Amino acid sequence: MTRDELRQTLSFYRDLGVTELYRVLPDPTENTMPALPEVLPSLAPAGDTLDKIQQDIGPDCRRCRLCEARSKIVFGSGSPRARLVFVGEGPGADEDAQGFPFVGRAGQLLTQMIDGTASKEGIPIRRADVYICNVVKCRPPENRTPLPDEMEICGQFLFRQLMALQPKAICALGSTAAKALLATKDGVTRLRGSWHKWRDIPVIVTFHPSYLLRPYNQDAKREAWEDLKKVLHYVYD
Ligand code: URA
Repeated sequence: MTRDELRQTLSFYRDLGVTELYRVLPDPTENTMPALPEVLPSLAPAGDTLDKIQQDIGPDCRRCRLCEARSKIVFGSGSPRARLVFVGEGPGADEDAQGFPFVGRAGQLLTQMIDGTASKEGIPIRRADVYICNVVKCRPPENRTPLPDEMEICGQFLFRQLMALQPKAICALGSTAAKALLATKDGVTRLRGSWHKWRDIPVIVTFHPSYLLRPYNQDAKREAWEDLKKVLHYVYD
């Protein structure tokens, strides 16, 4: 209704002697949400690439508080044609200093696990053939667990990395990665051993290498090797 039509309608009612107007409020029990489109829009711009995502993050990202104490943004490393992606939690001190994921002690264990298991199983790949990144790209102070808002802000870039890579499978390292990918509160012990999905891509959850470095975690170590064997055979057989 235009302003003129509204004015005419109001003077018509005034001429009839109506002096008060009231508005009918929508029924709160009625679902006024627009119907969801059947296909959810893609999270990633068309033709997205790892380079474009890194450019969008920018050289001095200030989207969350983690920028305050970080030295380097740790985007990810490995093959842009990787069929398997490992997702960790966030950079530690060594990664923050060097700008690459999993280069400290936990990283050395991850390298040994990938290279060692692949070679034992006759799978011709090495660490450089997979892709490795984290849920958050900047080191949380004192290596604390990333907070939900930090995971949400940085998670959009992780999701774009995964969409651009389109791996055959994803290996979530630890419960923070599992939480980010599977929106679950369950821990690793509960999640490991079966397949999950992130947007149709199969996901396996296993223990974080830092956890495996602690003494007395022999059972977890054996289980992590089993998980790795399973995902490597699934992707490369
Ligand atoms: N732990 C992580 O989760 N990521 C790294 O890059 C290093 C340690």
